[in-house]
Amino acid sequence: DPPAEKFEYQAEVSRLMDLIVHSLYSNKDVFLRELISNASDALDKLRFLSVTEPGLLNDGLDLDIRVQSDKDNGIVTITDSGIGMTKQELVDCLGTIAQSGTAKFLKALKDSKDAGSDNNLIGQFGVGFYSAFLVSDKVVVSTKSPKSDKQYVWEGEANASSYLVREETDPEKMLPRGTRLTLYLKRDDKGFAHPERIEKLLKNYSQFVSFPIYTWKEKGFTKEVEVDEDPAEAKKDGGDENAEKKKTKTVVERYWDWELTNETKPIWLRNPKEVSTDEYNEFYKMTFNEYLEPLASSHFTTEGEVEFRSVLYVPAIAPMGKDDITNPKTKNIRLYVKRVFISDDFDGELFPRYLSFVKGVVDSNDLPLNVSREILQESRIVRIMKKRLVRKAFDMILGISMSENREDYEKFWENFGKHLKLGCIEDRENHKRIAPLLRFFSSQSEDYVISLDEYVENMQPEQKDIYYIAADSVTSARSTPFLEKLTEKKYEVLYLVDPIDEVAIQNLKSYKEKNFVDISKEDLDLGDKNEEKEKEVKQEFGQTCDWIKKRLGDKVASVQISSRLSTSPCVLVSGKFGWSANMERLMKAQSL
Ligand code: ADP
Ligand code: MG
Repeated sequence: DPPAEKFEYQAEVSRLMDLIVHSLYSNKDVFLRELISNASDALDKLRFLSVTEPGLLNDGLDLDIRVQSDKDNGIVTITDSGIGMTKQELVDCLGTIAQSGTAKFLKALKDSKDAGSDNNLIGQFGVGFYSAFLVSDKVVVSTKSPKSDKQYVWEGEANASSYLVREETDPEKMLPRGTRLTLYLKRDDKGFAHPERIEKLLKNYSQFVSFPIYTWKEKGFTKEVEVDEDPAEAKKDGGDENAEKKKTKTVVERYWDWELTNETKPIWLRNPKEVSTDEYNEFYKMTFNEYLEPLASSHFTTEGEVEFRSVLYVPAIAPMGKDDITNPKTKNIRLYVKRVFISDDFDGELFPRYLSFVKGVVDSNDLPLNVSREILQESRIVRIMKKRLVRKAFDMILGISMSENREDYEKFWENFGKHLKLGCIEDRENHKRIAPLLRFFSSQSEDYVISLDEYVENMQPEQKDIYYIAADSVTSARSTPFLEKLTEKKYEVLYLVDPIDEVAIQNLKSYKEKNFVDISKEDLDLGDKNEEKEKEVKQEFGQTCDWIKKRLGDKVASVQISSRLSTSPCVLVSGKFGWSANMERLMKAQSL
C-alpha cells in the first residue's frame, strides 16, 4: 500500500475543532445538515460543470446522495456522486478554513470573548465539515475527482492536531466519482446510527435539497405462503384433493433497500399558496446555513418580458464581524438558470450593494446556462430582473414596517438601517421607496425612532419644512441652542446621530414636497420675521457685532444679529454654503 501522509491542521482549524467538541455539544443534530449541504454543493458543482463538459456525466451515474447507517457498529456513511476532491483539494478544503464565513465566525467569537460577553453566539453558526466531529471519534473521507484518476482518503480523529491522507486501494471502496464520508460515532452518540433517527433528521433538514436523498432502510412486505400439510391431517379433512390449496399462512418478508426521503421539487417552483411559512423558513436555514428565522420572505414569479422565479428573504441579523457594507462579498443570492445552480457570486449583478443583505434564490429561464459576469452586466434581461428584484425587496421591507409587531421593524432598522441610508446616497431612482422606510430620533421622540410619515403628521399647521440637526448623540442634539426657537413653536426636529444620516438626508432633499432644513445653518427662516424690529435691533447692536468680529478675527466668517434664539445669548452657526459642524467633524475623522 502507498504510505499515508501526515498533515497538521491550520491553527484556526484546531481552534474550531476544540470549540466544536467543547462548546457546541448542545446542538449536535446539525452535523447531518452540514454534511448533506456539502454533498448537495458538490452535486451542484458537478452539474454546473457538466453544462460545458457533458462527458462528466457519461458514466450513467445519477446525481444523488445516499445515507446508510449501521446501528450495531455505530457507523453512518454519506455518499454523494458529486464533484469529489483531488488530493490537493482534500488538504486545502479539510485542513484549512477556506470558507470566509467560518473564519469570520471565529473572529466574531474572539471579539465577543474579548468584550467579555458569553459565547451563545456559537449556536447561530454553521461550522461546516468539522461538525462531523460533534458526534464522531473518527471521520474518513474517501473521494474521487474527475480531475484525477486516483481516489484519496482523508482520515481525522477528534482531539487530534493532524490528519492523514493516503490513496484508496481497497477495491471494495472504489467510487466512480464523488465522495463518501464514514463517521465512526462516539460511544454516547451511537444513537444517530439508527436508521429511524437519521430519517427523521433528514426529513427535518433536507426536504429542500434539490437532489434525491436515499436512506438505506429495512423494509418488509407480507405475503401468503402455502404451508406443507401434514399428510395425517389431510386425511382427517376427508382427503379432498383441493383441500391442500387452502392451507396458507401470512409471513412478513424482510429486506433492505434504498428509499427516497426528500421531496426534490425546488420550493420556488411550487405554488406559493401551497407553501407554508415554516417551509420557507426551513428552506432559508438549509440553503444559507442560517440558524435564525428570517424577518420576512417573498416568493414571486414574473412573466411577460422576462420570466423568472424567486424567493427572497430579509435575515434577522446582520452578518457577524466587521461587515463592510461598501464592499460586500456576500454570496447571498443563488442564481439558477433553468433549475441548474449557476453561482452565488453574482449578487452584485442582481442587487445594488446597499441591498446586499437580502438573501434568496433567483431562477431564470431566459439566461444562457454558460452565463458569466460579463454577460450579466451587459444583459438587458438582467437589468429588468434587477429592477423587479429591488422592487420586491422593498415591498418585503415595507411589509415588515407595517407589521403589528413594532419590534420587528426596530430589529430590521437596527441591523440594516445603515444600508437603506446608503441607498439614499446611491440610488436616486428609488428615493420614493427608501424614504418611507427611514427612521430617526427626534426632539419629541428621544427613545424611539420615528418615520418621516410620523414626522409629517406631527407638523404644526403653519410649518413648511422638515427640520433636522446633526449631532454625535441624542444627548448633544438635545442640548443645542439651535433648538430653542423650534421647541417654543412646537416644531419637531429630527436628530441625525448616525454619521451617514446627514449625507443621506441631503441626498433626499425633500419628503412629500417638504424640504429638509438644517437648523444649524445661517439662513434658517422660521417664517416669523419682523423686519421693523430687526432693523431696530441691528442699529442698536451693530457696533457690538463689529467689535466682536474684530476680537475674533479669522476664527469666524461674520457676526450677526439673529432672532432665532430665545434663551441663549449667542450661537455658532455654519455658513449657508459651508459644511455643517457635523460634516466637518466627519471630514476631519476621515482624513485622520
Ligand atoms: P463550506 O461548505 O461552507 O465551504 P465546509 O467546511 O462545509 O465549508 O466544507 C469545506 C470545503 O470542503 C467545501 O467548500 C468543499 O470544497 C469541500 N467539501 C466538503 N464536503 C465535500 C463533498 N461532499 N464533496 C466535495 N467537496 C466537499
Ligand atoms: Mg458546508
